Amino acid sequence: MKKNRSPWLHQLPQDRERHALATDLSIDVAIVGGGIAGIASAFYALKYTNSNVAIFERFKLAHGATGHNAGQITSYFECGFARLVDEFGLSKAARGQKAVEDAWHLLDEMYTDAGLDIPLSRFVGHAGISSQEQVFFHLMNNQFRREAGLAQESIRIASTVDFVSNIPDLYKGLYSLVLPEDIRNILETATDDFVAVVSYQKGCVNSALFTEEVAKYLSRVYPKRFALYEHTPIHKLVLKHDHALLDGGEHEVRAGRVVLCTNGFEHIHILNETGLDIDAKYHHLLSGKIGYMSGYLEKLDKEPIAISYFTNPSIVADNPYFYLTRRGYEYEKGVEHNLVSVGGPDVSVEETANYSLEEDFPDEMEEVIDTFVRRIYNVEPNKTIDYLFTWHGLMGYTKNGVRLIGPEPKNPVLLYNLGCNGVGILPSLHGGREIARHLGGEQVQESIFDVPERDPG
Ligand SMILES: Cc1cc2nc3c(=O)[nH]c(=O)nc-3n(C[C@H](O)[C@H](O)[C@H](O)COP(=O)(O)OP(=O)(O)OC[C@H]3O[C@@H](n4cnc5c(N)ncnc54)[C@H](O)[C@@H]3O)c2cc1C
Repeated sequence: MKKNRSPWLHQLPQDRERHALATDLSIDVAIVGGGIAGIASAFYALKYTNSNVAIFERFKLAHGATGHNAGQITSYFECGFARLVDEFGLSKAARGQKAVEDAWHLLDEMYTDAGLDIPLSRFVGHAGISSQEQVFFHLMNNQFRREAGLAQESIRIASTVDFVSNIPDLYKGLYSLVLPEDIRNILETATDDFVAVVSYQKGCVNSALFTEEVAKYLSRVYPKRFALYEHTPIHKLVLKHDHALLDGGEHEVRAGRVVLCTNGFEHIHILNETGLDIDAKYHHLLSGKIGYMSGYLEKLDKEPIAISYFTNPSIVADNPYFYLTRRGYEYEKGVEHNLVSVGGPDVSVEETANYSLEEDFPDEMEEVIDTFVRRIYNVEPNKTIDYLFTWHGLMGYTKNGVRLIGPEPKNPVLLYNLGCNGVGILPSLHGGREIARHLGGEQVQESIFDVPERDPG
């Protein structure tokens, strides 16, 4: 079996000094969790409020999902826009969708402020879909997008499929008919498994390196207002009516507000001294999945791209799919290749506390990915593909597939920016900006990301 070895962590500086919490501390805002959600929350809290901010990370900065993902910058909700409309109504769903799309500007803002020059690619990405059901589902999403005034996705359908004449008139103007070979070319595949392709703005970034670089920037620009403590797990959080106490092992932290950016959950115990139990509800709201990925290097002779392949024709919300990203990648200093990374297989975990990044990469997951690669993308027979990287990471899923952002209704001393739901880079940045609004006392408009009063089921 191979190790859990991520290409994103491979590119992090290995020699940075790390500090654990070494004294008791009093702080305005304590952020628990040092992934991209934690760093975005810190960035915006420092930029738009006068608070002192500290991040507490149980292991190392950016070594959670942020260091074990596919690194696609993408704005879709895995559950589909139509399902958001069903749950929240058109205008609230549209505001939520737009907020995630607008997080591209937040990414720009963070890049510009921090003067980052780490690679970031933007391009139109694609999703190959394989059944009439899926095509109609995406047309319905697009119809709602049109109705809500959102930019539409491009949907190209193979003119030869037998259901073309069944497409309702309502969807006119929302798709085009193309030759099957156009679909194959866009999806870079020789198979005719896919009947349509949905395209929209995407990109890719090493989100671990991004997080690391933004942390460096915050330490430089706010030496008195920002601190990062690594190897500092917060075991227990006690919520009082106007502050919180955090149990950081040998030392205690008193904080005016606490922002949980822990992706999942299980490593922290919450006691709410002002009212009803939050712990049980909180744990109920989230479940876990481990996602598995493999990556290999090839010649730098193709443009960056991100493509999802829905090989399974179902439209259930948790339909598994493969996602492929290709981008320029410096493996050794100064030597550029393309890195092709592929994810797709995942397993649910009841008790995420039992998940460990130290676990090896199961051979069967490498096989599933290799079978996909050889059938769909890299079909040259007998080609040796050396999976230099094989990695896994934890994803926290909320029941409705929407990130939780904002104050805990039972005690607003506690705020959340968590729940990765498969796509978490842009939503984390949006979450960070919103958290700063809450911390700054702004009136924040109701949204799909609000933490529900009660466990929805
Ligand atoms: C296989 C995989 C593929 C993915 N692909 C994509 C993709 O292509 N595009 C996309 O947008 N998103 C993707 N995601 C999701 C995305 O990576 C995350 O949503 C995103 O990185 C947000 O991370 P986060 O900061 O919320 O969580 P994390 O990066 O997991 O950070 C949470 C941190 O909290 C720390 N922590 C937890 N408990 C405690 C505690 N008690 N005390 C102190 N620290 C604690 C953890 O150690 C961890 O570092 C993927 C995720 C996985 C696993």
